[in-house]
Parts: sequence; C-alpha cells; structure tokens
Amino acid sequence: MRAHIDTVIVGRGQAGLAVSYCLTRHGYAHVVLEQSRGAAEAWRNHRWDSFTLNTPNWQTKLPGAAYNGPDPDDFMTRNEVIAYLERYFEEFHLPVRYGVRVERVERNEKSGLYWVSTSDGSPITARNVVIATGLYQTPKVPAFSSALPPNIRQVHSDAYRNPAELLPGAVLVVGSAQSGTQIAEELCEAGKKVYLAVGRSGRVPRRYRGKDANWWSEKLGLYDRTVDQLPSPRAKRQATHLRDKRGPHDQSPSVRARWRHAARALARGRRQQTPIGAGPLG
Ligand SMILES: Cc1cc2nc3c(=O)[nH]c(=O)nc-3n(C[C@H](O)[C@H](O)[C@H](O)COP(=O)(O)OP(=O)(O)OC[C@H]3O[C@@H](n4cnc5c(N)ncnc54)[C@H](O)[C@@H]3O)c2cc1C
Repeated sequence: MRAHIDTVIVGRGQAGLAVSYCLTRHGYAHVVLEQSRGAAEAWRNHRWDSFTLNTPNWQTKLPGAAYNGPDPDDFMTRNEVIAYLERYFEEFHLPVRYGVRVERVERNEKSGLYWVSTSDGSPITARNVVIATGLYQTPKVPAFSSALPPNIRQVHSDAYRNPAELLPGAVLVVGSAQSGTQIAEELCEAGKKVYLAVGRSGRVPRRYRGKDANWWSEKLGLYDRTVDQLPSPRAKRQATHLRDKRGPHDQSPSVRARWRHAARALARGRRQQTPIGAGPLG
C-alpha cells in the first residue's frame, strides 16, 4: 500500500530545506526524504576540520533566515554552518524523514502521479517530486591515482580532516579551488612542504574597492545567469577565492602571493621551479 502526499522533496540540503520552508509557509502538504541519518551530514562528515565557507556571511540567506549577526563580511566555519542548518530545521519544524533513500521515481501515465520507491520499503505516490539531491555527493578521484606507488598516502578532500593525519614529508595538493587552497594553506601553516597543482579554475581578489568580490558578482547579475547563457558550459567553473579567515593573507591578490613562504606551484603538465611568489604577482 502506497502512502500519498502532494509533494515529495528528495534531499535535505539547502535547496530541499528552502523548498520545504516555502511549501510549509503556503500550507502545502509535503515530506522531505533524506538518505543520511542526521542534519547537515555533508558539512559534518565530508569537510575538513578547519573548513570555512568562501561565501561571506551576508550571502547566507536561506528563506526566513538571512544572516543578521555582527560580522556580515566574515566567513562561517564548518561548525557554524552545521549550527545554522540545524537551527533552520528546528525553528521551522520542517517535515524531514532521515535515513530514507529514494531509489526510484516513475511516473504513472494513467494517473499522472509519481511513484517514489524508498530504501525503507514504504513507497509513496506524489503529484510533484522536487529533486534536490545536489552536485557534490561523490568524490572525484582522477584515474592516475591508481598508478601511484602504495607508499604514497592518498586522501581525497572529502575524507581529509587535518594535517596530523598525513604521513611525514612533503605534500602534493592536486586542485587549486576552494578545497585545494584552503587545505594547502593549512598544511603550509603546519610546517609541511607543499606543492600545489594548479588547475584551470580562475582567481579573483577577495576584495576590490572595499567590497567583497561576491558583492560585485551579485551587483553585476552574475549569479542570475543560467548555464545556457554562458559562453560555454565550462564557464560555470567560476573564478574562485582563496581562504578567507586568516588575516595576514586576506589581501593577497593571487595564489602566487598567498604562500610565498612555503608552497610551490605545479602548473598543469610542467613543473614551475620557482617558489610561489618569486615571480611577478599575477
Ligand atoms: C568542499 C565544498 C565547499 C563548498 N563551499 C561552499 C561555500 O563556501 N559557499 C557556498 O555557498 N557553497 C559551498 N559549497 C557548495 C554547497 O555545498 C552546495 O552548493 C550546496 O550544498 C547545494 O545544496 P543542495 O541542497 O543543492 O545539495 P546538497 O547540500 O548536496 O544536499 C543534497 C542532499 O540530498 C541528499 N540525497 C542525495 N541523493 C538522495 C537520495 N537518492 N535520496 C535521499 N536523499 C538524497 C544528500 O544526502 C544531501 O543531504 C561547497 C561545496 C563543497 C563540496
């Protein structure tokens, strides 16, 4: 016997919560099905200990819970993100069922209803299904990793927690967007010799004319563009910022200046011999 509910939301990330909030406010019956066992699972179990958002606090604005604290230009730590999401769920009493994975969604042509099959064996029919399952569920490990000798310890950023868990010696950080740069900086500060393999992801200064780069992006309407409006789908790999909270580096104009004290960059396919920061600032 299938239970029926007007709308099923699959996934309890920010997107699922925001839709649930809006449906709740308008009195629409719905349920959010979430595969993990608790709130903010990705932030709790799939981010490193010192993680900070690279979006300033003023950009944290789930409907009904825009940031209104004293530091709009600061950046939330991992624990602050978890607390924010937990509060959101509790304050608005959103109907989330944890530990339920949606296995299949099929449309019944006759009735026009969706048949939602779940891991807990309690199927549901629904008039609407909102897929809010996110983009970042599966770590991507490059194929060349299997060719590396077994004495090199490999850790994906999804599983990395802190410098103490790495083996002694130098570290190669592969990837130079938010994860790679935050982790590389932390390893530098822990006294590791760090090599950073720099990918295609762009760079922008954190601040320009006294305003955060994201403030400019918002004002310029960059967040309103959809993928089909971009010159190519690749352009969605938006320029990234570097780590935000550690004061002395905050004004650094680029990755080169960022770790002049320790790191060396490996440009794609060729080794850059000079320490980061020895060349002209880019
Ligand atoms: C390392 C890293 C750093 C980031 N930093 C920032 C940042 O600084 N600022 C920022 O704004 N964004 C940041 N993001 C991006 C941000 O995490 C995503 O944009 C945001 O989480 C997307 O929300 P979402 O609700 O679409 O998906 P998610 O938050 O991924 O939520 C999807 C949910 O769906 C659940 N789910 C998936 N499949 C099923 C299924 N079959 N059945 C039931 N449940 C399912 C998952 O368990 C998950 O809880 C970062 C992401 C990563 C990986």
